[in-house]
Amino acid sequence: MTATPLLEVHGLTRRFGGLVAVDNLDLSVQAGEIVGLLGPNGSGKTTALNLISGALKPDKGSIALRGGAIAGLAPHKIARLGVARTFQLVRVLGSMTVHENVLAGLAFGTRNDWGSRAEASAVGLLERVGLGGRGAVMTPELTYIDQKRLELARALALRPELLLLDEWLAGLNPTELLQGIELVRSLRSEGIAVLMVEHVMDAIRSLCDRCVVMNAGKRIALGTPAEVLSDPEVVRAYLGD
Ligand code: ADP
Repeated sequence: MTATPLLEVHGLTRRFGGLVAVDNLDLSVQAGEIVGLLGPNGSGKTTALNLISGALKPDKGSIALRGGAIAGLAPHKIARLGVARTFQLVRVLGSMTVHENVLAGLAFGTRNDWGSRAEASAVGLLERVGLGGRGAVMTPELTYIDQKRLELARALALRPELLLLDEWLAGLNPTELLQGIELVRSLRSEGIAVLMVEHVMDAIRSLCDRCVVMNAGKRIALGTPAEVLSDPEVVRAYLGD
């Protein structure tokens, strides 16, 4: 008998006018698993994440978290049920310090120790993502990797069971990439599941337990990184017909 998946998506479909951006998509994420969502540009990956996080409503299909239906719920409700995603914070919350940014994230969640322990939680979160001692820095002054770390701290403030990452590892230099990979891996060891849209193949190979590959809205492959990356249909999709 298999356990109920943490996330189970079935028949998910979303159109934009005549375009079917996500077309009858099935995918699942088990508790504590890292699943890669791959595919060429325009294949529907970000739309799929937007549907799961509630930023967009599906036209058809089901999304279940621990067996409970979440499709079509408001984003803050889905977040409070344990699904967090990273956002580009520097754009949104640039006039705050790093510490204030994380406190704001803690205030949003009801799944955390809000109250007298918020300060300690913020400090702990910053240490966890490698920003210990940088709490007083203004957000726009952070280096790119530290901005990424802050995005993650904000998402972790919700104490998610499932974290959605949209190209979180993009644009890092090789040293930072290794640090970023280690950070994502450490989340899995704490029991957090991750669904990550990613193009960095080294990260996919070293992190993902399984990958789902999309093309033109449809799932074209499912398997381990080695299996999907050697699948002729996947290779064709990436090279273009
Ligand atoms: P990916 O993340 O794989 O690059 P997207 O999910 O961003 O793909 O986009 C899938 C398709 O849906 C693309 O053809 C894109 O142009 C289209 N699309 C995405 N969002 C919108 C939108 N808000 N309105 C119209 N078309 C959209």
